[in-house]
Amino acid sequence: MEFKAKLVTWDDIEKWCEEINKKMLKDGIPDAIIGLSRGGLVPARILSDMILMKNLYAIKTEHWGLTATVDGKADLKYGLNVSIEGKNVLVVDDITDTGQSMKLAYDYIKTLKPKSVKTSTMLHIGHSSFVPDYYAQFVTDKEWTWFIFPWNVYEDITNLSSKIEMKSSSVDEIVKKLKESFDLSVNHSVLGKVLMQMVHMGKAELKDGKYTYIQA
Ligand code: ADP
Repeated sequence: MEFKAKLVTWDDIEKWCEEINKKMLKDGIPDAIIGLSRGGLVPARILSDMILMKNLYAIKTEHWGLTATVDGKADLKYGLNVSIEGKNVLVVDDITDTGQSMKLAYDYIKTLKPKSVKTSTMLHIGHSSFVPDYYAQFVTDKEWTWFIFPWNVYEDITNLSSKIEMKSSSVDEIVKKLKESFDLSVNHSVLGKVLMQMVHMGKAELKDGKYTYIQA
């Protein structure tokens, strides 16, 4: 096995956001929520709904590289163009893995003179250098998994496909290879949709019901 990958469901997302909401409410409602683009955008939106918060902003940090490869430092790609001076803000991301993105975001937001900064992620991995104030699920280093969030299915499965031998393979064969290489359980229908999209995007070729990955 190369590494483990797992599909996260919308039910998981809802449950994890409810968990964060419960923990966060003990400290009071923030004046603004800042989602880290892209992974934190949907959880930030859900949390903003739960607390009826309309001050929802985004900043973008970036790690260069493909799915499951951390091959560079996090960079701030874009910041805020509204004032959060004197405000209690909550920063939201999907996961703290290396912790670099959240650390970078936290340090940047601190320079904007908010009254307080709290951080949250749905998943927090033990080896992360940054520990968020609120997280729903702790993942030990041993349990490390590439979590395929519902908003990242096409991107992640496309990237995982580039790591397996996908040469004139049927959907069922690809299901099997993804299981062998990543212990990934993906059903025929979901994979079929992603593969068709890969064909439309020029990432795969379809011939006689068999798919071949196209190296860029
Ligand atoms: P952080 O610095 O927040 O720990 P990284 O900088 O390591 O996270 O990665 C940045 C982004 O990459 C995360 O916000 C997430 O979208 C994605 N990511 C990192 N690790 C994982 C993982 N194990 N599973 C799924 N996505 C991940």
